[in-house]
Amino acid sequence: MTGKQTLTIIKPGAVSHEYIGPILAMINEAGFHIAAMKYFRLTPIQARSFYSVHKEKTFFNSLIEFMTSGPVVVAILEKENAVLDYRKLIGATDPTKAEEGTIRKMFAESIERNAVHGSDSDANATRECYFFFSRSERFSMFDTIP
Ligand code: GDP
Repeated sequence: MTGKQTLTIIKPGAVSHEYIGPILAMINEAGFHIAAMKYFRLTPIQARSFYSVHKEKTFFNSLIEFMTSGPVVVAILEKENAVLDYRKLIGATDPTKAEEGTIRKMFAESIERNAVHGSDSDANATRECYFFFSRSERFSMFDTIP
């Protein structure tokens, strides 16, 4: 599946501000196909596992508290060059450093409450897509993706 899928999470802050619609519109306008989608609240176990790479960071507990504070939208997005193109669309982790017109520039509240997640590599995209979605929940437009 190299390069064709990425995982996004519309985080609780953006959901609570009613930004689901505007963010999904930007995703569609940028040419992404939505191959899978869920709306639910992460459990602390899920959030800790998803962000386990950050478990030694000072902000880890705060991040988990935030990510479990309300519902999220999780989706698999598809297009050629999905990971890099979506990272460009969302902008820098810190919204004060994000370019004009990016999702984080437009909808983030802070470096932690930064509106959306986007996979940072093809390997992580694969891991993250399988973390949330089973085969029967995925509707790829690419014949080659299992
Ligand atoms: P991303 O790939 O751009 O999401 O950034 P990272 O993988 O480095 O961080 C994961 C998430 O942790 C970010 O999206 C933020 O929600 C949060 N985060 C990252 N850096 C910081 C920080 O310095 N302080 C706080 N409070 N949260 C952070």
